[in-house]
Parts: sequence; structure tokens; C-alpha cells
Amino acid sequence: MNVYDSEQIEKILAPSGYKMNSSFEVADLIIVNTCAIREKAEQKVFSFLGRLAGLKRRKPNLIIGVGGCVAQQEGDKIMERMPHVDLVFGTHAILRLPYLIERIESERCSIVDVEMSEIIEEFESITESPLDRIDPKVTSFVTIMRGCDNFCTYCVVPHVRGRETSRFPESIVGEVRGLVKTGVREVTLLGQNVNSYGKKENLNSFPQLLARVNEIDGLFRIRFTTSHPKDLSDDLISAFKDLDKLCNHIHLPVQSGSNRILKRMNRKYNRELYLEKIGKLRNNCPGIAITSDIIVGFPGETRADFEETLNLIKEVEFDSIFAFKYSDRPNAPAARFANKITEQEKKDRLQTLLNLQEYFTTKKNRVLVGSNELLLVEGLSKKKVDSDDAQSKYQYVQWTGRTETNKVVNFIQSEATIPRDRILKGKIVNVKIEKAYSHSLLGKPAQVEPTLFTLKGEQSYAA
Ligand code: SF4
Repeated sequence: MNVYDSEQIEKILAPSGYKMNSSFEVADLIIVNTCAIREKAEQKVFSFLGRLAGLKRRKPNLIIGVGGCVAQQEGDKIMERMPHVDLVFGTHAILRLPYLIERIESERCSIVDVEMSEIIEEFESITESPLDRIDPKVTSFVTIMRGCDNFCTYCVVPHVRGRETSRFPESIVGEVRGLVKTGVREVTLLGQNVNSYGKKENLNSFPQLLARVNEIDGLFRIRFTTSHPKDLSDDLISAFKDLDKLCNHIHLPVQSGSNRILKRMNRKYNRELYLEKIGKLRNNCPGIAITSDIIVGFPGETRADFEETLNLIKEVEFDSIFAFKYSDRPNAPAARFANKITEQEKKDRLQTLLNLQEYFTTKKNRVLVGSNELLLVEGLSKKKVDSDDAQSKYQYVQWTGRTETNKVVNFIQSEATIPRDRILKGKIVNVKIEKAYSHSLLGKPAQVEPTLFTLKGEQSYAA
């Protein structure tokens, strides 16, 4: 969500003459877009801001702004701790940025703006046209709602992003169409709980919105995140079967396998309901990839509670998980809960859980060896691969893409299959999976999408 918000900031500051630059030394304005979801992310913000103090001394006209959830949560405390910061703006103040920066430029003042509004028009008006990019993106996030009404006891989101508000479907569809025109082929629709999209405002339901996005010509894939288990509807499960562009993957955060802990987390479902939904997904959508989030060491989590989480992992066999150690967050009720787990115990539990999951992730990846998978190529892999052939003077180019089930596959573009100078970014490539690792797969291209070969004189590169 912060990636998306940063793009909104880029868009909204463009008319004021600001352009993205990768060098702090030449920047006139540095905006730090922050995340408060975990304590570690917040600590990183302050250590990064501390490092900017020297730059500000050398360049007194540099404007330093802090936005996002830490800004919303800490407000003027950031200025007290970091006096070289000029601007603190909250999650609802993005639209006011040009005005705030103009004031700082002309008055050389410092400003804190953390006012929260519930006006949807404000939210809509910053999302109109896509950014002009020299290197267009293949995949893009599109926020469909903001805020959350669920109030899980460990979470700051409802406190720093406000109550749940959905965007109008027409505006979302318009934004996706605009992105497709710039070369985007896959969108990920974002919300804290996409299943409740449009309910409060009586707009389309989330499956109806998906059906509208599915009709957009030129779009190849749709993903979404995040889905709250309590609200996962039969209609959404059917959408996986009915909509050809919706990827066969769902991220369904379980957080804990213990009913006692789920209750203390205020998750409003129990282990049995979660497993029932997993069963429905697997029965209705064969081969669906299921990923999840898990928190270890929630206050009061006993060894037995933790074992229940491990057992749930064994029962579900997730494709992958994001697992975190619990940390107290200001404003979140769990910060005041008794029976905190020691850091060492949290660390040990996290490692045990990750080791177990690695077994299942690798197992799932190994099943794919020998199969053919359609990849959307996202770009060059960071690794350069030398040729096995001693006679060859080539250093092969390695590309990276994802399967429909969101697995990362790297493959080598060799002369035997595809000319080396062919740019595959944004193309769909049929790859034969040859090797499985714990976090990625290695494949060999069998065929590039046929539409590419309509260029005069080109032939199919079928292996
Ligand atoms: S559903 Fe719970 S964890 Fe997710 S954003 Fe809302 S309050 Fe936070």
C-alpha cells in the first residue's frame, strides 16, 4: 500500500515541478513514506531520518518530509526527535502536499498535518492518470479501499489509516484501463479487507468489481490482497473459476492456529471456520495456491497454542507464509495485554515455524519440476549467468517472472531458444520448470506468447 501511496505522491507533486531522482545529494525534497505495522519498521524510519541530519546541514534549503503511518501515529513527536524534519503529513494529507510544500518553500516554516478526513472524493482525485515512465511497469498495485473497521487487537491500521472507505468502481476500472495503456499487464487490487469492498457505500460487491476489471482488454492477470477469512464469500470462491484473468492464488492470513489466541486477537473466526474455507477453496479451485500471514509470540501464547499453529501449517500445507514476531504497537490494545513472551522465545518460535514452512514450500515447488508454466516476465533477474559451454563467449541473460500461482521463476535466455537481444519484459513465456529451490524455481523457455510473432518475418520460437 505504501508503494502505491508513494506513486500517488509522485503524481501529485509533478505539477509543482518535482521529479523522482535516485540521488539524495541532488534532491531538493526528500519524502520518507513510513510503515508502522511493526516496531522494527518504525525503528528503521528514525535511524534513516537521523542519517539525513548531516545532509540537511550541508543543504539548508533541502525539505525533508515524513508521511505514512508513523507520521500519522507520532505527529509532532517526530519534529521533537528530529528537528531537521520540515514536514510531517498523515495518511489523509497526501492531497494537501503541494500546498504544504509551497508554504515551507516560501515561509521556511515547519508543518505537522495529521488531520484525518472521511471524504471519498479526496481519495479519488489523486488516482486519475498513470505516471509517464521511461521504463514502464509490467505489474501495478491499485488501491480499491483504504482504512479498516476490524480492529484486530495487535494492529495499528484502523488507528493510523482510519475507518474503511471504498473507491467508486468506475474510478478503479478507469485507473486500470489507464495503466494497461502504459504497458501494465497485471494489477494487484489492494485493500486491508477486500472482501468487504463496497458494502458500507452500497457499491458493487468485490466479486462484481473483479468481473468488471476482468473485462478490460489487454490486461492479462488480476491479483488481490488482503482477504479476511471471516468475510471470504462463496461468490469470491466462484470468481476464481469464472474469471479467466483472476490468478489461482489467495493470500488468506490466519495469524494463529489457536482458537484462544484468535479470540484475543479479535479475529472473529476460529480455526475450524478457517479450515472449512480452505476446504471450499481447494474443492472449487483445483491447484489454487494458498499463502498466509502468521504472528508468533502474541501476548499469552503458550507452547500449546504455538503447537496448534504448527499443526495448522501441517494440515493446510501453505505454498508460503509471511511470519513475524509479535511487537507492541502504540494504540493497539494488545500492547496493554499481560503475559508478554520473551524476545528469545519469540525468536525460537519464529525459527521453528519458518523451518517447518520451508519444508512445505520446497515440497510444493518440487511438484512443479517437469511441468510447463506460463510466466509474465517482470524484468531481468539480478544474477548474470555464465555459459556452461567453454567455447561460448556469451554471458547469458537471466529473466525473472511469476507463475499464475505467484511463484518466482528465473530462466535463461539463450541463443538456442530466443535471440539474446530480445526484450522479454512484459511478455508471456511458456517455461519448462527444471529445478526447484525453497524460494524460487529455475526454468527453460519453451515458447514466447504467439502475439509477439506477428511482427513481419518473425517466427515462433517454440523449442
Ligand atoms: S483486518 Fe485486522 S490486521 Fe488487517 S488491517 Fe484490519 S485491523 Fe489490521
